[in-house]
Parts: sequence; structure tokens; C-alpha cells
Amino acid sequence: MNSLVQVAYLLTAVAFILGVMRLRAPARARSGNLLAAGGMLLALVATAAVLPAHHLWWVGAALVVGGIAGTASARRVPMTAMPQMVALFNGMGGGAAALVAADETARYLPAFPPAAAAAPALFTVLIGSISFAGSMVAFAKLQELIRGRPITFPGQKPVNLLLLLLLIGVALLLPFDPAARAALLIGFAAGALLLGVSTVLPVGGADMPVIISLLNACTGLAAATTGFVLGNNVLIVAGALVGASGTILTVLMSRAMNRSLANVLFGSFGKLHATHLEQAGTEGEGVRATTVEDVAALLAYAGKVAIVPGYGLAVSRAQQEVRDLMDALLARGVDVRFGIHPVAGRMPGHMNVLLAEANVPYDRLYDMESINPDFPRTDVVLVIGANDVTNPAARNNPDSPLYGMPVLNVDQARSVVVLKRSLRPGFAGIDNDLYRNPKTMMLFGDARESLQHLLSALKDVA
Ligand code: NDP
Repeated sequence: MNSLVQVAYLLTAVAFILGVMRLRAPARARSGNLLAAGGMLLALVATAAVLPAHHLWWVGAALVVGGIAGTASARRVPMTAMPQMVALFNGMGGGAAALVAADETARYLPAFPPAAAAAPALFTVLIGSISFAGSMVAFAKLQELIRGRPITFPGQKPVNLLLLLLLIGVALLLPFDPAARAALLIGFAAGALLLGVSTVLPVGGADMPVIISLLNACTGLAAATTGFVLGNNVLIVAGALVGASGTILTVLMSRAMNRSLANVLFGSFGKLHATHLEQAGTEGEGVRATTVEDVAALLAYAGKVAIVPGYGLAVSRAQQEVRDLMDALLARGVDVRFGIHPVAGRMPGHMNVLLAEANVPYDRLYDMESINPDFPRTDVVLVIGANDVTNPAARNNPDSPLYGMPVLNVDQARSVVVLKRSLRPGFAGIDNDLYRNPKTMMLFGDARESLQHLLSALKDVA
């Protein structure tokens, strides 16, 4: 029986690896997800098959409760709330790993587990608890249950460092103090939770996706070390996969924002810029408002149009209207491309998912590196609910907190039309000079409504 279970675990690991590989291309991502989910099901069945009968009730109950909660939330959560859902699920993974490892250590009390089991178990309690608590803070920030901007206090960095050293000290003390062992173990877990909270509190603004991905990598690492604690190969492989992909994503996202990981963790991004947040109106010096009729005429006679979607497209759920606009322009012989910034929206791949929902062909989507050289030859760029990812200050203004972050150079096109409701800044809380560029016209209003009006106005253009 045991070798059958090992074969099932091996097949699961293969399914996970092939599943992750398929996620690399949008067209194959769905099947990749299904393959990985199938692998997970196989691992669950194989594990249940070797459990003592009286444990099966617990496993069954957990599967039913988890299955219902997972299915209901996946169906109901809007696309705009996906980052907080990822944070929540990720936190659960870290918390589960920490609990299993703590239980494995506590099982020996008042004795201490052998070093080979104790070291990975304590490491898992540390990383899993940090990941759980950090993810809960990230969830609360993104869900706006607490302030999303960085929360700092004097001496935060030395206090965090001290806490980490204290935790290492407690871990080293554990084998030698049988009387205080239970209390030390509880203190160790509580300290790790506190470290998770105080590490994520000072992160805010545009750095949130990076920290979520880093926490994801931590959860993967915690799952892998739980695999060592339990002697479970599939946990080691699955955890290593999550840890590695989370780390790669963290590095890629830091690069996309031109920020080092240390800067993300300790830089308190956005803290100094809250004063710019007031500009809710549509009137500003040098800002030119336009009408749907003018934009329709501009688009109808253009040779080359680029559409740059952002978070506002997700908020207004205008993906179908964007698709209809693309079709209408293509029918008129206009060349239409989409420029996709790697951190547009609120989660990696957000814009790809939205546009895939409306069946926009993948070959119309261009990533930042491929579309940027093309902007000077583009007649009109239609910026739909995007803001930070188009801010030219990232290129031109060394004083801007966005300076150095690669952006879509839409201001290099012949004309720019921006669809948004007001002059309010985007996620980073920073004004956008693009709106005062003489080439830019603002079409104020909800993106979906503006696009609907634009589509009917386009029909009237001869
Ligand atoms: P931004 O958040 O910079 O801007 C979105 C704009 O959409 C706002 O300025 C808002 O302006 C407009 N908007 C909101 N609702 C509507 C609506 N109904 N109709 C029309 N416009 C609307 O978005 P970007 O996509 O440009 O940039 C993403 C930002 O989020 C970056 O700073 C990124 O770092 C950060 N981030 C990215 C994550 C990711 O993984 N992709 C995760 C978390 C954060 P107005 O209110 O005036 O309408």
C-alpha cells in the first residue's frame, strides 16, 4: 500500500510541475490549473487511503468545510478583490504549516524531539507564523479594514531585528530547558506572529503585490519544511514549487517597479505622498477635457491605436466594451494593440485575465518591452482606467517616488486619450503629469459608460 501511495505522490508532483509549466501561456493556463488541481485530488485520496479509519471523519469534515468555503469564495469574490483573496488563502497555508510543525514538536513534551526533526519543525513554526500573520495584515490592508498606507513607529527596524534575534535565542534555549519548554514554545510562536505583523505593517501602496508574493514564497518554504518534519515527499515537492515560483515572481515584480526587495520591505513606499490625494475634481490647470464625439472621430481616422488598460477597467467591468471597441476599429481597418504593464491592476496578470474573459485574442496583447518602442509611431493611445503605470514622472522626475519604475511610455504617442472619472491619483497616491501634457485629452466618466457612448458615437462617424 505504501509504495502505491508513493507512486501517487510522484504522479502528483509531476502534475504540479506540468501544471505550473502550462501557466506560462494564457491559452494553456486553464488546463494547467485543472492538471494541478487533479494532482492535488490524487494526493488527498492517497493520503486518506493510509489514514486510520477514525481519522477519516476529521479529514472528511475538513474537506467538506474547506471545499464549500473555497468554492463559494472563488465564485463570489470580484476580480478586483483577488489580491486580498490570494493573501487570505496564502496565510491559511502558512498557518496550517506552522500548526502541524508546532503539534509535531509539542507531541514530545516535556521531552524534546531529535535534532533532525526539531530544526525543520521550529523553522516551519517561525516562517509559517510570519507568513500567516503577515498575510492577515496584507488582507486587512487591501480589504481596507485597516489603513493601506505604511504604518510605522520610531525604531521599527531595530525592534524587528531584535525580535528576530530573540526568537533565534529562544529556539536555541528550547533543547536545554525542559521545565520552561512548553512556555518557550508558545512564546516562540507568538513572537513569530508578532514579527509577521510588524514586518508587513510598514509596507504599503504599490509595494503590496511584492510583499504578497514574498509571503507566498515563505508559505511554500514552510510547506516544504513541514514535508521534512512529516517525511512527506509530495509536501516537499509542492512546497519547493510554491517557494521557488513565489521567489521568482517577487524578483520579477520588484524589477517591474525598479525597487530592491530591501527597499520594498524597509522603504515605507507612499508614506510621504498622502498629501496629493485630494484632487477628486475634473478641473486642473493645463488639463484638457474632451467629448465622446471628438474621441470617436480621432479613433476612426487613426491608422494605429494602442489601448492601455489599468485597474479602472476592472472596477468598471468594461472588458466586453473594450473588446467591442477593438472589433469596431478593426472593422474600419485600424490597427489595434493592447499594451499590458506587468503590475497594471491589482494582481499579476490582472489585465490578461480580464481581457481573456472578453475573448480578446492573445496576439493583440503586447507586454511593456514590446509595445514601448512602438508608441512614437502610434496615432492614438487610449488609456482606460490606468494611472501609475503610465506616469512619465517615472522617467523624467528624479524626485518622484516612482522614478526608475519602468512604465508604458504613452506620452510618446501622437495623442493620448485618458478615460477616468476624475483627476484623483492611482494606487501609489501620486499625481500624473500625463494629464497636463498638451497631447493628452481627458474623457471623464466611468470607463464602461464612456466606452458605451464611444461605441455608439463611432457608428455615426462616416
Ligand atoms: P492605478 O491604481 O494607478 O489607477 C487606476 C485609475 O483607475 C485611478 O486613477 C482611477 O481614477 C481609475 N478608475 C477607478 N475606477 C474607475 C472607473 N469605474 N472608471 C474609470 N476609471 C476608473 O492603476 P494602474 O493599473 O495604472 O496601476 C496599478 C497600481 O496598483 C500600481 O501602482 C501597482 O504597483 C499597484 N498594484 C498592483 C498590483 C498588481 O499585482 N498588479 C497589486 C497591488 C497594487 P478615478 O478615481 O479618477 O476614476
